[in-house]
Amino acid sequence: MIIVPEKEIAALITPEASFEAVEAVFAAMSRGDAYNFPVIREAIGHADALYGFKSGFDRAGLALGLKSGGYWPGNADKGLTNHQSTVFLFDADTGQPSAMVGGNLLTALRTAAASAVSIKHLSRPDSKVLGMVGAGHQSVFQMRAAVQQRGFEKVIGWNYHPEMLSRLEEEASALGLPFEAVTLDEMGAQADVIITITSSFDAILKADQIKDGTHLACMGTDTKGKQEVDAALIERATVFTDEIAQSTTIGEAQHAVIAGMNPAQITEIGKVINGDHKGRSSASEVTLFDGTGVGLQDLAVASKAVTLAQEAGVAIEVAV
Ligand code: NAD
Repeated sequence: MIIVPEKEIAALITPEASFEAVEAVFAAMSRGDAYNFPVIREAIGHADALYGFKSGFDRAGLALGLKSGGYWPGNADKGLTNHQSTVFLFDADTGQPSAMVGGNLLTALRTAAASAVSIKHLSRPDSKVLGMVGAGHQSVFQMRAAVQQRGFEKVIGWNYHPEMLSRLEEEASALGLPFEAVTLDEMGAQADVIITITSSFDAILKADQIKDGTHLACMGTDTKGKQEVDAALIERATVFTDEIAQSTTIGEAQHAVIAGMNPAQITEIGKVINGDHKGRSSASEVTLFDGTGVGLQDLAVASKAVTLAQEAGVAIEVAV
């Protein structure tokens, strides 16, 4: 069994490698070669923690396993990250454990890779302005992955807590891009691509704020009750997702479905990757990717990290 500790991950796996792994597993999901198992998430009644599992099996990549982890709100006071996760992989032929991989950085990389995959396949090729809604931990990973997909010339940002916007400005500057803090009306009027990555429980962006041709990657809503855009914007847009079952229950589309939207209107992004759906149909269409975060993304990047750790000679081997 291989162990790849959290401290080794940063030096091993790049945003590019994460992108390739996530794009491939989304394609496998839509071919029916890979599937996610039901998600478990529970308040454990200790340390105010939320704990759970995301799991699945990719028959094409032979990745079988789970990501175990959750949210410990008291961790920051102990100098630890509040979100904690570890990926466990199993030999698909024998069921024996094959790897234990630190999952904290991998979660950020695989989440950023998902929105980047959507930008590659759904945004207008001439997109110039990247809009960021949210300035928390995940936001910088999102920006880094997004700028690799289009020739963005400027980043604009809005955050509920404006004092956090300096994080976006610093990241844009490191990427060689000018940054401007904007209102939500300015965001909708200027941005060609908008990434939302917040923990909001109310709609931030409204349908009438968005200009024609925009691509939105809504990445923050991964739980029942969370919401980043209003149901009318979901209705206006052509909606794509990682997994329809999650999109309609814990993703951004949950509110539109409650308001009467037919889930059949939502398309898995894997269909676009595989060429079974044309994706964007015109330069004026509004496209929206509802990125809910599936266990197969975690297994894909963890498998990649194991291979890279073995190649780099930093994988710790223990007898099972
Ligand atoms: P964080 O706590 O570091 O940042 C939270 C962000 O949300 C900040 O920008 C904050 O200002 C904003 N925010 C907080 N309350 C708000 C409110 N009431 N209205 C609007 N904005 C508000 O969190 P993070 O690690 O950057 O994660 C952001 C979100 O992404 C979380 O909801 C997290 O659960 C989600 N997430 C999704 C996936 C996925 O695969 N889809 C993966 C990881 C995290």
